Amino acid sequence: MFGTVAVLLYPFGVAVALYEDTPRIPPNWVPWATPALDEDPTWLAKYQISRLHGDADLCFAALDGSHLEYNRLDDRPMDNGCGVTARTEILQSNIPYSAGFESPCALAAGLYWYEQRLNVIAEEHLGSSVARIEHFGTYSCRNIYGRENARRSAHALAEAIDIAGFRLMDGTEISVLRDWDDKGPKGLFLQAARDEACRFFGPVLSPDYNAAHANHFHLELGSFGLCR
Ligand SMILES: [Zn+2]
Repeated sequence: MFGTVAVLLYPFGVAVALYEDTPRIPPNWVPWATPALDEDPTWLAKYQISRLHGDADLCFAALDGSHLEYNRLDDRPMDNGCGVTARTEILQSNIPYSAGFESPCALAAGLYWYEQRLNVIAEEHLGSSVARIEHFGTYSCRNIYGRENARRSAHALAEAIDIAGFRLMDGTEISVLRDWDDKGPKGLFLQAARDEACRFFGPVLSPDYNAAHANHFHLELGSFGLCR
């Protein structure tokens, strides 16, 4: 049986780890496995998070298998195109946030995973890990860009977070608005932070997209969409 699975997955570049005599495929290489949010993400991560968004039980099982501390809140019932399902509040994650927020379980799962990558690239570019994520929130019952005749924003379902910047452990402040065009390590870190977000979310919109995103990254749950 295992041989068959391995052969089927081989074309996808599955890595097989050997523990004693029992071959084990790391779960993040297996599309139908519960994602292991404390292990390195693979190219399947965005698909896995979308899957968690469609299956609340699976999503909470993934959170329970990680070190994320969270509260499950009552759903915000759908009303006039606004509401939140699998509603979750992060209590303690890898990186603290500038303010508490609610989100669907899958956004919390994706952020928990993304934070681990943020710390890696912050160390690479700036020699310090991230102490705090500055953000403008998730839930907002409104249309895109607040326009009257537009469709509902992903924020109406709390399916997106707007990230404005980062504070590092060494005290360095990095702002999307101020540092996006920086040619030094801060700018390179922000570009890498945007690119890493695209491994977990889609669409991901940054100052490269339009002036409405000059001061934040918009990270939205989804398997497709722009990374810009
Ligand atoms: Zn947004």
